[in-house]
Amino acid sequence: MALIVQKYGGTSVGSPERIQEVAKRVIRWRERGNDVVVVLSAMSGETNRLLGLINALNPEGAAREKDVVLSTGEQVTIGLLSLCLESMGCAAKSYTGQQARLITDSAHSKARIRQIDDTKIRADLDAGKVVVVAGFQGVDAEGNITTLGRGGSDTTAVALAVALKADECQIYTDVDGVYTTDPRVVSDASHIPKLALEEMLEMASQGSKVLQIRAVEFAYKYDMPIRVLSSFDDGDNGKSTLVTREEDIMEEVMVRGVAFNRDEAQLTIKGVPDTPGVAFDILGPISDANIEVDMILQNVGTDGTTDFTFTINRGDYAEAMRILQATGDKLGASECKGDERIAKVSIVGGGMRSHAGVASQMFKALSKEAINIRMISTSEIKISVVVDEKYLELAVRTLHEAFKLNETTA
Ligand code: ADP
Ligand code: ASP
Ligand code: MG
Repeated sequence: MALIVQKYGGTSVGSPERIQEVAKRVIRWRERGNDVVVVLSAMSGETNRLLGLINALNPEGAAREKDVVLSTGEQVTIGLLSLCLESMGCAAKSYTGQQARLITDSAHSKARIRQIDDTKIRADLDAGKVVVVAGFQGVDAEGNITTLGRGGSDTTAVALAVALKADECQIYTDVDGVYTTDPRVVSDASHIPKLALEEMLEMASQGSKVLQIRAVEFAYKYDMPIRVLSSFDDGDNGKSTLVTREEDIMEEVMVRGVAFNRDEAQLTIKGVPDTPGVAFDILGPISDANIEVDMILQNVGTDGTTDFTFTINRGDYAEAMRILQATGDKLGASECKGDERIAKVSIVGGGMRSHAGVASQMFKALSKEAINIRMISTSEIKISVVVDEKYLELAVRTLHEAFKLNETTA
């Protein structure tokens, strides 16, 4: 008997009919002799609706209270699926993050999972029940409700799969796997049947929202394979993508896919002293405020001063700017400025390690379309560029074509 953790995203539970389809699928997996733990998102659009309500009343309000509101969407779907399963003759029990004792740190809206107490879940499984857990939420040591960041239900699913030592973690969504880029942006993107966790880690961290980055981090750390598949396929034999250890992938591809992120913003501080410790003076307060910094660029100093540019999530822009201005006053900077209309485009592929010239091919393709590159960063298996947001889709299509990703037949 296998233990399967299945996660269903917002569109997969977006209506009573979709919830019935999920229930039927869960029952099919059970009838084949599996224990099933289901993790659910809120109905599609619900988390955004809740955010809208918060913003209408107090956008700058306490993060603790925002999480109280945001976590409700998932409570609705877990109850509804459990009721639906019951109506179909299948015993089920729902758990909010708090009830499942899914303990996180206290970083509201981007909390990290620390520990899961699986005692109750195991007892329910042993009693023959399907266990339905709310994704995206947990509770901190003081009992405050926390949320895990957008797309966080993926992370709940992988963390539960790890804690329960599940045989498989299945992420059901509205696409039948991972593609060479977002199929909504490039219609002839190719399906990838098997992908290394390392590559998925880079794709997710560069913005491919098909899996949340932290879910892939968990899977990578604990060696838990993830299968991405569509809840809109009729049977259970449709296409899927298995994200697994690199050793299990036969063929190494130079460029696997194009990822992008439009939720970026850029900040620059000019004329700061070119002395040891200045990077820490600038970025320390940003990180103390729990704001993640992505790319960092320091210019070569002239006349004892230098400029410093970095990128962050657009949602953190106002707060980061406030902090930077305070730092600027302290350091006697000549100027602090920012741009909220930037985006990042990246190419990712394990084969880049052994291929030279990928970067120049990338820059050539972008220059042919007159797309200006504002920042560049590289790792072993990815190259990212920051461009003006208005060029984002053109850049993605151009790179997808330049690296012939529509011709991938893995
Ligand atoms: P869910 O609500 O099920 O969690 P998401 O919207 O979070 O679904 O993720 C699925 C979406 O991810 C797809 O509809 C697709 O537009 C987008 N996406 C982005 N990059 C990729 C990619 N490389 N492959 C597949 N889908 C991608
Ligand atoms: N409902 C949350 C969101 O929309 C979490 C998730 O769906 O994964 O981001
Ligand atoms: Mg998602």
